[in-house]
Amino acid sequence: MAPSKIESSHLPSTQCLNIKPIKDSGDDDHLLHRSFIDPPALVERAEGVNLFLSDGRKVIDACAGAAVALIGHGNKEVHQAIINQLQKVSYVHTQSYTTQPAEDLANLILRGSPHGLEKAFFVGSGSEAVESALKLARQYYFEKNQLERLHIVSRRQGYHGNTMTTMSISGNLARKIPFEGFSYPHTSQVSPAFAYRNMRDDETEIEYTARLLQELEDEFLRVGPYKVMAFIAEPVAGSGIGSVTPPAGYLAGVRALCDKYGILLIFDEIMCGVGRTGSFFAFEQEGDVVPDIMTIAKGLGGGYAPISGVLVHKRVIDVLRHGSKAFNHGHTYQAHPTSCAAALAVQRIVLRDGLIARCAAMGKILESILRTELQDCWSVGDIRGRGLFWTVEFVKNKETKETFDPSVHFGVRVQQAAFNKGVALYPCSGTVDGKKGDHLMLAPPFIITDEELRTVCKVLREAIEFQQQLYS
Ligand SMILES: *Cc1c(COP(=O)(O)O)cnc(C)c1O
Repeated sequence: MAPSKIESSHLPSTQCLNIKPIKDSGDDDHLLHRSFIDPPALVERAEGVNLFLSDGRKVIDACAGAAVALIGHGNKEVHQAIINQLQKVSYVHTQSYTTQPAEDLANLILRGSPHGLEKAFFVGSGSEAVESALKLARQYYFEKNQLERLHIVSRRQGYHGNTMTTMSISGNLARKIPFEGFSYPHTSQVSPAFAYRNMRDDETEIEYTARLLQELEDEFLRVGPYKVMAFIAEPVAGSGIGSVTPPAGYLAGVRALCDKYGILLIFDEIMCGVGRTGSFFAFEQEGDVVPDIMTIAKGLGGGYAPISGVLVHKRVIDVLRHGSKAFNHGHTYQAHPTSCAAALAVQRIVLRDGLIARCAAMGKILESILRTELQDCWSVGDIRGRGLFWTVEFVKNKETKETFDPSVHFGVRVQQAAFNKGVALYPCSGTVDGKKGDHLMLAPPFIITDEELRTVCKVLREAIEFQQQLYS
């Protein structure tokens, strides 16, 4: 693709909002924002599901940032846990030391080695977790003396991060334009499992699954299966195509193909994991298809501190355990005690208050309100999701599923109109092929109430109707 204009339409934006943004006043302000023309709104305070802006307005955070704030904002118990940890020890280097919250967090998540997942490695961001997972996969083959295995197969419109390698395996074309040539070279992509867009009318779900699996096997064979290190995918797709659950048998088929060719299976559950779809691991609702390595992040610390994790199956750990006896990788802030204390407090609240079961139950309510509220919106092509992870995909024509011209920024416009009415949603574009298509994501905190969900969906309908009117 020609390195032309950089699209920023996938980012939440305050352009055209009637709120007073922080303006870019040249030399006086020194924080580099994401955009020079779409300044962000200043948030002074956040509590529960609400954000309080500097102009006095209240906004329901119906996307929890980017599916992050899973217990909501301003939780005093988490604040106290962070303060307690700061008063004990705020930092030590993991080369020589460990801390109780880091140990406790790993033990809380992996008590009893669920599904054979044995060890947790904590870092700061989702991208760092995916990079770490890929390096672990490579080291696994190094230990096994399979040095030709360097190739990573991923899926188009998947998202795995913004560092050089994670960007290379991601499908967000807009984010990649200026960085051609930066890429990790040993990577290729197959089709996403995306029935609404890609399942043919003359095809059953089983046939669609078989077609996707054939494509994956063909790709392994094309590259040379002995050269493939890993296949990475989001079990329930995240921002790229919008909370898409895979067709029946897909993940089991993927697992079987990886086993057939000795390729590691990595699940990126950074957005869909940690309860977001109504089970702690998203893969648990897909027939317990277990990855060799997986990543979690967004909901892990619930936004109270930057933290992500790599969870590793015993069969991978055993190879290192009996090989070089060390993971040849590390970061200064890995297993940071304050971050681990924050995540530990968040996850203890999730467990104590049964918030994952609540997420599953509220998700059913959200689905039914969404379907009722949006049934007469001509631009809503698809409503899909699971748990409190829902997507509305927009089309110009419901029958043909034709998309709006990307220059219309239909999804972003709807998001802006909803924001004006006090509801924050997460807009994404490039749904169909990385360029065309718009969708909006809803991923509210698990503590959201029926009434708040009703408000969110009503405002979303009004925002859609407003844009539909402007368009026609
Ligand atoms: C957000 C995300 C990432 C990247 O996480 P960062 O913290 O932004 O680096 C990776 N994978 C998935 C699935 C994500 O949703």
